[in-house]
Amino acid sequence: MKLLEYTGGLAETNAYLVETAEGWLLVDAPEGVLDFVRERKIRVAALVLTHGHWDHIWDAADLVAWAQCPVYYHQDDELLITRPELMRDFGLPVDLKPVQATQFLKGGEEVDLVGKRFRILHVPGHCPGSICLYQQEEKTIFGGDVLFAGGVGRWDLPGGSRELLIEGIHNKLMVLPDEVIVYPGHGPATSIGQERRENPYL
Ligand SMILES: [Zn+2]
Ligand SMILES: [Zn+2]
Repeated sequence: MKLLEYTGGLAETNAYLVETAEGWLLVDAPEGVLDFVRERKIRVAALVLTHGHWDHIWDAADLVAWAQCPVYYHQDDELLITRPELMRDFGLPVDLKPVQATQFLKGGEEVDLVGKRFRILHVPGHCPGSICLYQQEEKTIFGGDVLFAGGVGRWDLPGGSRELLIEGIHNKLMVLPDEVIVYPGHGPATSIGQERRENPYL
C-alpha cells in the first residue's frame, strides 16, 4: 500500500494518505494536514474521519471545501462533527467548523473508497462513532483511537465506555490475522500479533 503519514496538532494526531489509481484517500484531518497536502499538490479524493474528536477533525471543513471531496464518518459521531462546540467543556481548544457527511459508515459493510475496498469495523468505547478501516488483501487497518502500540483509546470522555472498547477490540480486531499492521491515531504503527502478545489492556 502506498502510504504517506502526517502527524500534527496539539495532540500529535496521525493522518494517513493512501494512494490508489484514482487519487488519494485521507484518513483523519488533524491541524496542519491541509497545508501538508496543498504543498505536495496531493489530490485528496475522499476523507474518512475515524471519529469525531477535535484533534481528528480540526482541518476537515477547510480540507473538504478545498478538495471538493466526499467525507465519510459514523452516524453516532454526527453531533460531534456537525456541532463541535458541544465539546468545548471537554478540552476543545478552538472553534471548529461543522462538517456534513456525504454518507455515513455503519460498521460491518464493505465500501469502495477511491477505488480501494475496505471493511468498516465499528468499535465504540473511545468515542461512540469510532470506526476502523480494514483492507484485507494488504493486511492493513487504520484504527483511529481504538488500539495503540501498547495501549488502547481513553474511555473517560463523553460517550466512552471501557467495557465496550475492550469487548470491541477483542471481537472485531483480535480476530484478524497476526500480520495485520495497525496504523493508529497516535503514536507508531503496530500489528495485531504484537498487541495480542504484549498489550497490557487486553
Ligand atoms: Zn479520540
Ligand atoms: Zn485522538
